[in-house]
Amino acid sequence: MYVLRRIVLAGLVVLLATANGWTLAYPRNNGIKWEEVQREALELFIQYLKLDTTNPPGNEIRAARFFAEICQREGIEHKVFEPFPGRGTLWARLKGDGSQRPLILLNHTDVVPHSKEYWSVEAFSGAQKDGFIYGRGAQDMKSVGMAQFVTMLTLKRARIPLKRDIIFLATADEEAGGQLGAGWFVKTHPELLGNAEFLFNEGGNNITDQYGHVLAVGVGPAEKTPAWLRLTATGEPGHASVPRPDSAVNRLLRALNRLLEYTPPIKLTPAVEQAFRSLAPLMPAARSGKFQNLREALKDPEFARQFDLDPMARALVRNTISITMLQGSTKINVIPPVAVAEVDTRLVPGEKLERWIAELRGVLGDDSIKIEPVLAFEANDSPIDSDLVKTVAKVTKQRYPEAIITHPVLAGFTDSHFFRDLGVMSYGFSPFVAPPRELGGGFHGNDERIGQKAYVEGVRFFYEIVEQLAR
Ligand SMILES: [Zn+2]
Repeated sequence: MYVLRRIVLAGLVVLLATANGWTLAYPRNNGIKWEEVQREALELFIQYLKLDTTNPPGNEIRAARFFAEICQREGIEHKVFEPFPGRGTLWARLKGDGSQRPLILLNHTDVVPHSKEYWSVEAFSGAQKDGFIYGRGAQDMKSVGMAQFVTMLTLKRARIPLKRDIIFLATADEEAGGQLGAGWFVKTHPELLGNAEFLFNEGGNNITDQYGHVLAVGVGPAEKTPAWLRLTATGEPGHASVPRPDSAVNRLLRALNRLLEYTPPIKLTPAVEQAFRSLAPLMPAARSGKFQNLREALKDPEFARQFDLDPMARALVRNTISITMLQGSTKINVIPPVAVAEVDTRLVPGEKLERWIAELRGVLGDDSIKIEPVLAFEANDSPIDSDLVKTVAKVTKQRYPEAIITHPVLAGFTDSHFFRDLGVMSYGFSPFVAPPRELGGGFHGNDERIGQKAYVEGVRFFYEIVEQLAR
C-alpha cells in the first residue's frame, strides 16, 4: 500500500511537470517536500544576494528581472515596470477564488551602500561562512523578500486552492523614501492591488532568550512616520563688517535655539500604548505592571524620569526633533539673504502633520520663518485584532508554544504607510526566529549576514502563515 501510494504520487509529480513545464511540482494540496523547498530557497537567496541593487543608484531592474524570469518559468502571472531608468518594480499574482480580498507580500529590492574596507567578504558574492549567508540585503530585506517569493512559488506548485489572491510586490527605492517604487506603484497601479485586505512587509521583532527559547513574535501594526521639514529665514543681505541683528542667519539660529530647548510632550496614542502593553509579560514584575498601563505609570514622576532615560522608549512616546542640516552664506564676509535648516522630525502613529507644524510654529516664535515639508506622511496604524494577526498567533502557537505575540511600533519607517493610506491593513513581520548569535546582523552595517538555519526555517514558518491565511 505504502509503496503503491509512493508510485502513484511520483507519477503525479512527473505528469504535472510535463504538462506545465514546471521544474518541480507537487501533488495537489500536499506532498510539499520541505527539504527540497528549503534547499532551493537557499540557492535562490544566494543568487538574489549577488545582484548589486545599492541605492543610490538602485538598479532594482536587476531584481525585477530576476523574479520575472522565475515567474515566467513557473507560469506565474507577473509584470515588470521600469518607470524610471534602472528603477524596476515587479508585480506577480496567484489568483484566489475571490471569496476573500487579496494579501500583498511587499518587499523592497534596493539595499543601502556599504563600506568595502570594513567587510570580511565581498558584499555581493553571496558568501557562505560558519553557518551564515553574507551579503548586503541579507537582513534588510532580501531574506524576507525571498521567503515571500518562495512562499508564492510553493503555493503555486502545490496547487493550494486559495480564497484570496496572493500579490507579490518587489519594489525599488525604499531606502530613499520609496517614491520611485512603492509610492509610484500605489499612485499609478492601484488596480493591481485588487482592493487588498492585508499586507506583510518588513519590520516586526522577534525575541528569544540566550538559550534560544522563543519568547515573542512581533507583528508590527504601526510605525513612526517622517515629517522632514525645511525652515527658511530671510533678511536684508549686506557686508558682514556691519552686523545686522535681524539677519536671516541670526533669526534662524534664535528660532533653532528655541527648538533645541523644546521637548515635545509625551503623546501616548493607542498604537504606542498597546505596543508597551504587549511587551509587559516579558518584563520583570516591577516593570510589567507599569507597561500594562503606561498612561497611568507615567504619572509617577520617578518612573517617568527613568523611562525617559532610554532613548528608544523616549522616541516612541513622543514626536521627535533632530536638527540635521544648516545652510547660511557661502562666503564668510557676506550676510546672506536666506538661511535654511532642515529638521528631521518624526510623528507618533495617530499624529496629524498640520497640528504638529502648528505646534512647531509656536515653538519657533518667529512667524517670518517659512516651514515646508520635504517628506511627510500621515502616521496611520493597523488594527491588532485582524485575521492576519490572529493567523500569525495561531501558527506561532503551533511552532513556538511558549511565545507571546507583541505589537511593536517601529521608530523608523518603511513603505507600509503607502498601503495603510489606501486602507490595506499592513504589518511588519519577520519570519526569522533565532537567538541573536544565530540570527546574524549587520543591518545597514558591516558584514550583513543571516544564519542559514534561521533563514530556511523562517521560509517554512512564513509559508505556513500565508497558507493558513489564504487557503
Ligand atoms: Zn528595509
